[in-house]
Amino acid sequence: MGTAIIGGGIAGCAVAYYLAAEGETDILLVEAGELGSGSTGGSFGGVRQQFSTPLEIELSRRGLEFWRSAERVFDAPVTWHANGYLFMTGQPEIMAKLAEAAALQREMGLTDVHVLDAEQIREVVPWVATDGLLGATHTPNDGRVTPTEGVAALVKAARSRGVRFREQWEVRSLERAGSGWRLNGPALIEAERVVACTGYWSSEFLRPFGLELTVRPMPLYSAISGPALAGQRVPLTIDLDTGLLIEREADGLVIAILYEDNPPGYGHARMLEEFAELARVRAPSLADLRIARHVVGNVDVGGDGHPYVGSVDDGLWMVAGFGGHGAMHGPPVAELLAKTIAGHPDPSLDIAALNPWRPKDAATEWMVATKKG
Ligand SMILES: Cc1cc2nc3c(=O)[nH]c(=O)nc-3n(C[C@H](O)[C@H](O)[C@H](O)COP(=O)(O)OP(=O)(O)OC[C@H]3O[C@@H](n4cnc5c(N)ncnc54)[C@H](O)[C@@H]3O)c2cc1C
Repeated sequence: MGTAIIGGGIAGCAVAYYLAAEGETDILLVEAGELGSGSTGGSFGGVRQQFSTPLEIELSRRGLEFWRSAERVFDAPVTWHANGYLFMTGQPEIMAKLAEAAALQREMGLTDVHVLDAEQIREVVPWVATDGLLGATHTPNDGRVTPTEGVAALVKAARSRGVRFREQWEVRSLERAGSGWRLNGPALIEAERVVACTGYWSSEFLRPFGLELTVRPMPLYSAISGPALAGQRVPLTIDLDTGLLIEREADGLVIAILYEDNPPGYGHARMLEEFAELARVRAPSLADLRIARHVVGNVDVGGDGHPYVGSVDDGLWMVAGFGGHGAMHGPPVAELLAKTIAGHPDPSLDIAALNPWRPKDAATEWMVATKKG
């Protein structure tokens, strides 16, 4: 066969669609579980322009465009919630970096970014108590999506262009077969070309080819509340000093504490205790929030803040390791990779810097949404 795509998260499904859109034929996507059942299925779906490097900001611009237009483009239910995004801090050095990142976003034409002082924070989100805060950056036209809606839309569009999908089809090993590849799973499949879109499984999956990636799963413990902050604006709000995250979910909220690595023994009980303690200071009306549901999803953390995208070996390509940003950056990165694979690379954005073989810590994106300092 022509192309085998391994992994049916947002990245794999987008690669499938964009390869077909480039005119490639004979494409099969195989997925170990169900489509969208990896990180994509557990994602908060925040889509923001707020990054600090030109490459990530450009990927965000394209990701925003993908999600805002998906409903129309794919004629499928993909809801865009324009809730906005707010990063806040009381640390002068973080505030300076936020302001610098905002200036870069403006320079790149994304002018809808506001640097707020404490009083302006109160105007935007009156439910936030600003004691100890220096300021924030606010992007009112950022938003959130349900990434599995994007998966369904991409799958529908890819199917209509002839792409085939197989679920419950785990690739146990991948080996060379002549000039192509043999996938060993529930059956044997030979393909001229393989694209590994294996999310946080990629470090293990691609190690046999000499690639040493540090991508790994990190459980993110969150909870969904009962009705809260009725009638109030709730951007995806992150206190960078404590990792406190608050996001709108229907008439309730999603709450979590964002760590780069969970402390030992961490789980929902500890998260909810910490949330109540932090909320007493930062959002007092939420300190006694009624919790409706516990949720946990594995984030694809590790790496250096940029995804790993490009050629692993002759005829073997990869895209994975989004550092928790794949809902927003997966679709545009997949499109860039599909164009490269099909031999028509996008002249307006070079993805060479995302090469999976780059030296460790080559990238410098710091706006990974976790507690700072
Ligand atoms: C709680 C949480 C919150 C998040 N919040 C955000 C956010 O606000 N904004 C944002 O942009 N991103 C967010 N993310 C991150 C985002 O969801 C991921 O970066 C993105 O979904 C990664 O997509 P993917 O396709 O690379 O990986 P995945 O969705 O993990 O897909 C990989 C797929 O490959 C399959 N697979 C692996 N190995 C094999 C094999 N050997 N054979 C066959 N199939 C295989 C897996 O079953 C899986 O379905 C969040 C993630 C979580 C968990």
